[in-house]
Amino acid sequence: MRLSGITLESIVDGPGLRIVLFTQGCPHRCPHCQNPESWDYDAGEEFSVRQIMRQLKQNRKGKQGITFSGGEPFLHAAELSEIARKVRQMDLDVVTFTGFTYEELLANTEPGIQALLTGSDLLIDGKYIHKLRDIGLQFRGSSNQRIIDIAASREKGRVVLWGE
Ligand code: SF4
Repeated sequence: MRLSGITLESIVDGPGLRIVLFTQGCPHRCPHCQNPESWDYDAGEEFSVRQIMRQLKQNRKGKQGITFSGGEPFLHAAELSEIARKVRQMDLDVVTFTGFTYEELLANTEPGIQALLTGSDLLIDGKYIHKLRDIGLQFRGSSNQRIIDIAASREKGRVVLWGE
């Protein structure tokens, strides 16, 4: 899978101190995107799951979890769901950003998509919409984006927001 980068310490991409994988390639093309260099599918660098896991294991100390950001992480759903499964076994939580909505992803029958949804503790969904920009929002750029508790949403059969 292609990554545009790995940040080993972040406090702005989910709860606590986190490692962030920035995936390469994004179909959403949101105007005023802060990371347009992540759009090109051929840019960035190729990593195997094994290489990424080695980095995560070497740098896990003191971390609450891993964040998948982009680009569009669901373009790499099969590989990221495998990483999510392994890092949860290491007692780390998983936050996944996406430009798709939760409902769009739920309706997608591709097994990798569903595995990445299930492998995520929190999903921060929706495109960045500049006219809804709000710099006071936690972890998000615009007010249409939601922080969704995936396990609670699956259990209740409706969207349950984080902390609800
Ligand atoms: S989904 Fe994210 S990375 Fe993709 S264009 Fe929108 S803001 Fe940029």
